[in-house]
Amino acid sequence: MTLLTTRGAEEAQWVLCQGCTTPLYRKRWARGRKVCPECGYHARLTAPERLDQLVDPGTLEPLPFSAVTEDILGFVDTIPYPRRLADARARTGLDEAVVCARGAIDGHPVVVAAMDFRFLGGSLGVGVGQLIAMAAETALVERIPLLIVTASGGARMQEGTLALMQMARTSAALGQLDDAGILTISLITDPTYGGVAASFATLADVIVAEPGARLGFAGRRVIEQTIHQVLPQRFQTAEFLLERGFVDRVVPRDRLRTELSRLLAAAVVPSPGATGDEPPAPTVSDPGLLPESDPWEQVRLARKLDRPTTLDYLSMAFTDFQELHGDRLGGDSPAVVGGTARLAGRPVMVIGHQKGHTAAELNQRNFGMPGPDGYRKAARLMRLADKLGLPVVTLVDTPGAYPGADAEERGQAVAIAENLRLMAGLRVPIVTVIIGEGGSGGALALAVANRVLIFGNGVYSVISPEGCAAILWQDPAAAPRAAAALGGSARDLLRLGIVDGVIPEPDGGTGADPLRSADRLRAALVPLVDELSGRTPQALVADRRERFGAFGTALTVESGLRPLREGVS
Ligand SMILES: [Zn+2]
Repeated sequence: MTLLTTRGAEEAQWVLCQGCTTPLYRKRWARGRKVCPECGYHARLTAPERLDQLVDPGTLEPLPFSAVTEDILGFVDTIPYPRRLADARARTGLDEAVVCARGAIDGHPVVVAAMDFRFLGGSLGVGVGQLIAMAAETALVERIPLLIVTASGGARMQEGTLALMQMARTSAALGQLDDAGILTISLITDPTYGGVAASFATLADVIVAEPGARLGFAGRRVIEQTIHQVLPQRFQTAEFLLERGFVDRVVPRDRLRTELSRLLAAAVVPSPGATGDEPPAPTVSDPGLLPESDPWEQVRLARKLDRPTTLDYLSMAFTDFQELHGDRLGGDSPAVVGGTARLAGRPVMVIGHQKGHTAAELNQRNFGMPGPDGYRKAARLMRLADKLGLPVVTLVDTPGAYPGADAEERGQAVAIAENLRLMAGLRVPIVTVIIGEGGSGGALALAVANRVLIFGNGVYSVISPEGCAAILWQDPAAAPRAAAALGGSARDLLRLGIVDGVIPEPDGGTGADPLRSADRLRAALVPLVDELSGRTPQALVADRRERFGAFGTALTVESGLRPLREGVS
């Protein structure tokens, strides 16, 4: 199977792009890593070409094992299996459909397993299963991340049920890396189908795909024949899957090294002293120091459209943000964003509600009101943080969870409840900052933290004042009165111990001086993350249980004895 066809006497010099049929000068096309300069079509790379592209020069070191591939069944189709194998070996110069090596990407050590579609369609048989498992074993023993570049039509039919078993074998191998906290990344290239798609390709922590790469269990032709319908052109493409929450990122070939390097860096805990110092946090922990404010005015300030959003803070208060997408269940909520980032040098996972500054942005982000896919994306990223030992920072800014029929049908209540339980038991530090509006369960589902801070004009309450007014006053116009009764201002929250500290806002609010606000956010977060990072997983869980277990008791309200109050100054 060739993606690019050649023509007549010019065969050696020209190739035709399969995406746009433009004739391309072969040398230039090869220099561009087989990406069409006209239409961006990504043609297939061989495994050696892929390793050459991704791995730092001089660091590639093939793993010292070879696959045992046998004709156990004595399989014959049009030609005997041993002859097919011999042909594939002669044609590719490879032993099997995957090449495994140790190497570095931008200086970060990694074990890479790169599949080669030329070798019997990248099919998954005993040999490939064994090589993937051994690559995983090497990553486990040496405690370095595993990157698998996939290209496969599915299980190798010539090896029968033994080929099928390789799905279980490789999945178990990746499971061991999960238990050991070793980062796994898959790079999906075109095509990735069947047994490979339904095992190691999609079990990786982070799934990166090349533009246009197709990924699926059953192929388009099989589905079309079964349902007697023509599927959309984009069906099963990387872009199609990104929208549905199955792929974290679609990355053009020329950006892959940079992006993979950032992801690999996220799993590296910096050595002491490698992180930047921050001036003391200006957080206020004494409610008496905060001015009394009109509750309804406070709600209006918290909702101001000029306030920095989660993505604004990610670009100003953090560095190296690498957004990760999708809940892996069918959705990618635009109202929740998250990914790996650095906080003054410290690797962290940041997750937050995302609103916007304009009507168009707000619409696109569903006004910061997530459906279950948003909470499930957050849960997936928190589990990844737990696996990799990354502190979690959540930024809360939502009127509430999305009140819609489809959200209910997909289990909104379950998604929120599961986040509350997940966060309670997470083995890494969690710090939450309410950057605007903290509405109800939709806010709490990202806020079961060891420490909770709020910006001075932020609010956090059990229901929106409008909702409360409608239910209890049966008059939406009573919202200002409801706001006063609900008591969700920063000052009230600090008095009740709901928040541990208040980050003062610049004159005119966070929107008036976003940069200064971001500096204050970072300065407030750093000492908390550092202090909590020194604790054991058990202590962190106990701390969180104690924090949330104490609410409503006289002890919490009157004496403020919880040590976490003292931690903030
Ligand atoms: Zn093209």
